[in-house]
Amino acid sequence: MWQKATILIASLLFPASLALAQDGEIQTQQVSDNFHVLYGPGGNIGVYTGDDGIIVVDNKFAPLSGQINAAIDQISGDDIKFVINTHWHGDHTGGNENFAADGAVIVAHEYVYRRMSMEVFLPLYNSRTMPSPTGALPTVTFADDISFHSGNETITAIHVPNAHTDTDSIVHFEQANIIQLGDLLWTAGYPRIDVQNGGGSIDGVIDAIELALELADNDTQFISGHGPIPPQGKQVVQNYALMLRTVRNRVASMIEQGMSEMQIINARPTEEFDAVWEGENPYIDADMFTRIVYISLI
Ligand SMILES: [Zn+2]
Repeated sequence: MWQKATILIASLLFPASLALAQDGEIQTQQVSDNFHVLYGPGGNIGVYTGDDGIIVVDNKFAPLSGQINAAIDQISGDDIKFVINTHWHGDHTGGNENFAADGAVIVAHEYVYRRMSMEVFLPLYNSRTMPSPTGALPTVTFADDISFHSGNETITAIHVPNAHTDTDSIVHFEQANIIQLGDLLWTAGYPRIDVQNGGGSIDGVIDAIELALELADNDTQFISGHGPIPPQGKQVVQNYALMLRTVRNRVASMIEQGMSEMQIINARPTEEFDAVWEGENPYIDADMFTRIVYISLI
């Protein structure tokens, strides 16, 4: 299985601009007997194929829905019963309207519904998102968590407050031993955190990753929001948590010393992590990540 993953890693070190492009190939990776990941433009998709139907977690951009359906048809001929959104961003929810029209129930944290219903401007990324059409909105929402029971599998989406955004959930497949982290975990650059207007925070990301690690054992596989899913997932996610905590604490103490944003960026608080976490052509590079952490803490 991991040989296949290695090939995918090579092909997935795409320039970040491509990660946000809305067209391109969909690639499938089998992660366990009943779980596949679909890569390609936009956020990674999890596909759980149970005895009584399919649950899809995230769905990239609307123009890709046909290709996504074709890739899922290769895995199973069953219907998609539920679509879970890990958060509201358009590269994870863009297909909602198409999948809902085909009969899937869209499930997400209640703030996904709220954010998708209004215009949102994110100054750090200079991006504006207009309200989504009614048909794209989640039809079932929850406040803290929600569970799905499929044969002997229990799937729970758990809200993690003020993390990548204020709408995030991690999705835990207990028997398959898989945790889909959405954009709490990036393996194609440093993580994006929507700290201005998006309700995200570095402390919330750290708390969410620590919760995921508490739910995990040594064999748990973690599904990232962007970039290839990591082999030896728990070890990689532990290293990720260490990076997040270290950079956060360094930036916090520099702020306490009275250093300016520019001085902190120039001090390179991420330096020893860059080789692993910045990657090639990242969407969020080391300086941008430092800036995100700084803005999150002031
Ligand atoms: Zn996102």
